[in-house]
Amino acid sequence: MTVMVPSRTPALITPGRQALDSALHQLGQAAEHLGLDDGLRTILATPRRSLTVSVPVRREDGRMEVVQGFRVQHNVSRGPAKGGIRFHPGTDLDEVTALAMWMTWKCALVGIPYGGAKGGVAVDPAALTTRELERLTRRYVNEILPIIGPEKDIPAPDVGTDEQTMAWIMDTYSVNAGYSVPGVVTGKPMTLGGSLGRTGATARGVLIATLTALGRSPEGVRVAVQGFGKVGAQAARYLAEAGCVIVAVSDAGGAVHRAAGLDVAGLRAWTAEAGGVSGYPHADAMDPADLLELDVDVLVPAALEGAITEDNAPRVRARLIVEGANGPTTPQADEILAATGTTVVPDILANAGGVIVSYLEWVQNMQALPWSAAEVERKLTAMMREAYGEVAALASDRGRTLRQAAHAIGVGRVAEAHRARGLYP
Ligand code: GLU
Repeated sequence: MTVMVPSRTPALITPGRQALDSALHQLGQAAEHLGLDDGLRTILATPRRSLTVSVPVRREDGRMEVVQGFRVQHNVSRGPAKGGIRFHPGTDLDEVTALAMWMTWKCALVGIPYGGAKGGVAVDPAALTTRELERLTRRYVNEILPIIGPEKDIPAPDVGTDEQTMAWIMDTYSVNAGYSVPGVVTGKPMTLGGSLGRTGATARGVLIATLTALGRSPEGVRVAVQGFGKVGAQAARYLAEAGCVIVAVSDAGGAVHRAAGLDVAGLRAWTAEAGGVSGYPHADAMDPADLLELDVDVLVPAALEGAITEDNAPRVRARLIVEGANGPTTPQADEILAATGTTVVPDILANAGGVIVSYLEWVQNMQALPWSAAEVERKLTAMMREAYGEVAALASDRGRTLRQAAHAIGVGRVAEAHRARGLYP
């Protein structure tokens, strides 16, 4: 049996297809490293379950629109499927499949008892009113209801979704069940069983990964951050608090630069009012594409997939890249960065803080016993450091990049679970 890679026409390579190609390439390398047989490779290359749904939304003016939604459960060998839900106009089944696959390796790598999943709705949440968003979310959840649940598949926030989205998901599921089911979703508001420390968890993980990779004092370390959303804005804040100088930040609408360092709190206050970083008066405007090529110590891509490609990788000057986003670096760019001696802390390690605290939230829900912020932080830090240590050790023992080592560990653990369970029937 051979690995099935769907055929493609070059003219039709979408960003989603590129993300899936990257994920399959990384799996192929890990499978090679681990010596997996073809049958197992094929199983790991294909999602366990993919659901495409049509979501009709009633707009405020009475018009009806239909958008596409997806939920992909890539693997459930190690536990329930786990992964966020993305609301973004560009999302498609290929992208969601790639993101679900990355969740599988991420959960395995950090040692939490989950498989991998992802959801997506091809919509621009900024173009909808709150009531439209609520109707859309509830209808989408209704469509994927049969396959989610606290022991089946547990969604969480991702690009374009937040605590409010999770509250609607929890409510829709609970109303259908007939009782409250907080453990069906993570990243909930505190009042519904959310966990202390979940909101900033991905960024905390990015901070821990950055400090560990630096291996020296962060004082004065110059950082550029691509993306100023849930991950990028908080990561910029934590890094600045640790002593780093945030010299540039970008979002979907533009980028700002200040060599002496941006006031992250001031910039957040500005974006809350203005809707984006553009026009921030205490910094210079810059082309967002140039941010990736700035002469900085650390680059944190915290936006979407495919930011660092073979086109711009030769011009990346940061010596350390810490991936807050999922899939920001293409395999071709990875090769270029490895050749130029740039260290890349891969997504499935660098941004795992989010799903780690999601797991801690779910455990608190299942035992109906909340933990203090200090307890959550202590567990998060310990799990991030342990995973980092394992990845770094394998990378140096076997002369691999951190990404190759992280995938070898993640894929290896899933393969091991699969072998232990055996194939039914
Ligand atoms: N969306 C986040 C990620 O990509 C968090 C997923 C989760 O908490 O389940 O890792």
